[in-house]
Formats: sequence, structure tokens, C-alpha cells
Amino acid sequence: MKYMALAVFLLFAAISPQMQAQDHGISATASKKGTQAKRSATSQKDKSMSKIEKSDSEWRKILTPEQFRILREKGTEVAFTGKYYKTDKDGNYRCAGCGNLLFTSKDKFDSGCGWPSFTSPADNKNITIHRDLSHGMIREEVRCAKCGGHLGHVFDDGPQPTGLRYCINSASLDFDASEKK
Ligand code: FE
Repeated sequence: MKYMALAVFLLFAAISPQMQAQDHGISATASKKGTQAKRSATSQKDKSMSKIEKSDSEWRKILTPEQFRILREKGTEVAFTGKYYKTDKDGNYRCAGCGNLLFTSKDKFDSGCGWPSFTSPADNKNITIHRDLSHGMIREEVRCAKCGGHLGHVFDDGPQPTGLRYCINSASLDFDASEKK
């Protein structure tokens, strides 16, 4: 009996860190790579931002069909077709659904992947990260913290200083060249 109690304890100790990582919407793989600390601020918890909730029919009234497909149905635009992947002007990238400030030009870089790419968000509290197991892959989905709109994914192959590549659909963004953060 004593050994059984010990076995149960060891099993719990082994799976506990994984469960904690999943609680925060962060993959266990990312945690092992030491990226958890960088992204812990972007977990679903600790969000004080006011949320926007609309029905699908309300979203359809304010979004184009392409924006609705990507933001509300987790779609992806075809690589090298979006309006911002080549944009190199100074300015801010806001959520096309709700206007939340998501990224700025100072963190944008040319990754060559065909989508707008950023090394970090404008502010960690403006986005959330969620594990995405669709299409047979383990990825980390990026969403707008205010309206929940799907933006894209974040990968560990970006340049310094973060080593991250936020790969974002142009259709999820509204660029304002006149704004400076
Ligand atoms: Fe939004």
C-alpha cells in the first residue's frame, strides 16, 4: 500500500508541470524550450482588458467575408497575397475587428514567409496565446485579447531579441501609417 501511494505521488509530480503549462494555453513543447517565461504574460489569465462580444451576424455586418473567415473562423490567407506582408512604413497595426492595438512597425521584419511577421506584440496584454492542434500540427495560435479574433500563430524561429515570429494574417489587421506609438 505504501508503494502504491508513492507511485501515485510520483505520477502526479511527473504530469503536474505539463498540466500547468496547458492551463496557461502554452504548449508543453514551448515550456521545455524555455519560452514559457517570455509568454507567461500573454496567458489567458491576468487579462484586465474589457472584452467585446458579438454574434456571428453582427460580425458579418462589420467585416468583409475574408476578414470574417480569418478572424472568426480561424482561416488563413494565401501566402504572399495579403496587403501588409511587404509593408515597411512606420505605423501601428490594429485589430481589423475591434481596433485593439496589436503590433507596431518597429517590431515588424521581413521573414520571407509571405505573411506580416513581428518579433513581439505592441503589448503582451493585447493578445492571448492558445494551443492549436489543428491540421496535424502543434502550434500556438495568436488571438486579439479584446474581441477574441484569430490573428495567426507564433513560432520559435524569429530573430533576436525575442527569437519569436508572430506570423499574422493581413486580413486581421488595419494599418495606420499616421499613428506612432
Ligand atoms: Fe480584436
